[in-house]
Amino acid sequence: MNKRNSPNHRHEKLSKRDTDESPDPYLNEQPAKEPAVCSECGNIYHNKQWYLPGQVEIKGEEVDEEFVCPGCMKVSDNYYFGELLVSGKFMVPHSDEITHLIDNEVDRAQEKNPLQKVVEATEEEGKVVIRTTNGKLAERLGRALKKAYEGELEIDKSEQTTRVFWERNDLPE
Ligand SMILES: [Zn+2]
Repeated sequence: MNKRNSPNHRHEKLSKRDTDESPDPYLNEQPAKEPAVCSECGNIYHNKQWYLPGQVEIKGEEVDEEFVCPGCMKVSDNYYFGELLVSGKFMVPHSDEITHLIDNEVDRAQEKNPLQKVVEATEEEGKVVIRTTNGKLAERLGRALKKAYEGELEIDKSEQTTRVFWERNDLPE
């Protein structure tokens, strides 16, 4: 089939990097002028792609610094597509390690797509709840927990928001 006539062509044009959840209204909010630097997180928009601060050199060019990137807009609007629930007896004595692992995994995920972010990290009814801008990030964090600490992982993609549950109840001796 001619690619130009395929039904997915329009979505491909929106973004090559963040295609896991479309339509995503925030991806239409690209800067009118580039390079642009997000005034919240420092992400850089250059050649129609987003980069982390330091990933691309934009020296000597006039920079639009008034812009807020779609990732930060989602955070400030509390708009999320992924939710990770961490629970179980194992969690409390290992909370520092778990937090560290999650932070590292978010950093690594952002190297690929700087617009995926943690929208909210909170505690509800004894569970740690981490809400993410896209489902992929929540899934990635759940898989990282499973890989590091075993336990039970469940991923529910039946609705628009991907829900990821990780639980471990036994305590190593
Ligand atoms: Zn930003």
